[in-house]
Amino acid sequence: MKQKVTLIPGDGIGPEVTEAAKICVEALGVGIEWEVALAGAPALKRYNCLLPKETLDSIRRNKVALKGPITTPVGKGFRSINVTLRQELDLFACVRPARSIEGTKARYSDVDIIVVRENSEDLYAGVEFKDKEASTEELIAKINAMSQKKVREGSAISIKPISEFASKRVIRYAFELAKSQGRKKVSCVHKANIMKYTDGLFLRTFKEIASSYPEIEAWDIIVDNLSMQLALNPKQFDILVLPNLYGDIISDLCAGLVGGLGVAAGANIGDNLALFEPVHGSAPKYTGKNKVNPTATILSGALMLKHMGQVKKAKILEEAVAKVIRQGKDVTYDLKPTRDDPTAVGTKEMAQAIAKKIKELL
Ligand code: NAD
Repeated sequence: MKQKVTLIPGDGIGPEVTEAAKICVEALGVGIEWEVALAGAPALKRYNCLLPKETLDSIRRNKVALKGPITTPVGKGFRSINVTLRQELDLFACVRPARSIEGTKARYSDVDIIVVRENSEDLYAGVEFKDKEASTEELIAKINAMSQKKVREGSAISIKPISEFASKRVIRYAFELAKSQGRKKVSCVHKANIMKYTDGLFLRTFKEIASSYPEIEAWDIIVDNLSMQLALNPKQFDILVLPNLYGDIISDLCAGLVGGLGVAAGANIGDNLALFEPVHGSAPKYTGKNKVNPTATILSGALMLKHMGQVKKAKILEEAVAKVIRQGKDVTYDLKPTRDDPTAVGTKEMAQAIAKKIKELL
């Protein structure tokens, strides 16, 4: 029987990269029936809502989703649909592997890091207060009465909640991932020297949980030092576990270490649901141009297949991607020696070359 999977094309370059992933997953001959659900610009047009209930219901029903990126207009009062989706579905861990692929223009050839980012709280909790509003001024007055440190009048405020509950479950997830994948080390990334209560709680929880995994080395590192160390010597890191904001930034940095956003895949994991998506955004300037690299979404499809228990097929998909990139012929502009290389192929053509390679490998 075919397994239903929710397919969210998203907007911007989303429909092109999800179509590319669909071509490759279908070439594997896995029994998947796609249930297309809208979010972002197409959902606004059809339902007058960026994240319709129908889409959330589809993911809850099917338990697995593959998603393209969705645009978030900056500073216009819109909450990010991506953040909302993760919070609504309680997808508490965002897992982003960064592994070197031969044939990319990456600076290093031997990176193999998994970023595990807390997905539900921190400065992304959405508890924000607009500047100069009465409620914000009231909050500022209360804070100033309660705290020795004063907040300037007229400030805007974002709250950074970090709970023991959310820290525990994401940190435990990171250690369990290390155990199941035979990884040796988990590093907690924080800024507990400055944010003693919030990041301090995250670090304290990490140390508590680490003590139940004596076979795995537990490190902790301050986020600014980590950034420098990643640029200098990324090989020293294995699994990183981070609060939401640092996780967002560091996963893009790690994507840069292995060839850029075009190849960086991701998974959002909850207790019963999982949503797979590329790390990159909707790259609006490339919309409809059949230009961008579909690899990140295709590899997100491989993560999805592993999650569904189709490990052999997922490995064939990864191998086909690796071969096409290594050969360097049927690849998009970002994987060519120069960005204006006239031999670069389009999104669809790269997907078709991967699908062809899959057929040879099957
Ligand atoms: P972006 O990832 O869309 O693009 C950054 C740059 O990376 C682009 O200029 C492009 O050159 C390159 N790039 C991205 N994807 C690529 C690909 N597949 N192949 C080749 N090059 C690629 O980031 P942005 O410009 O900061 O964000 C654009 C929009 O996407 C914003 O509205 C943002 O909120 C949204 N966004 C969505 C998600 C998501 O849906 N999960 C994630 C990040 C950003």
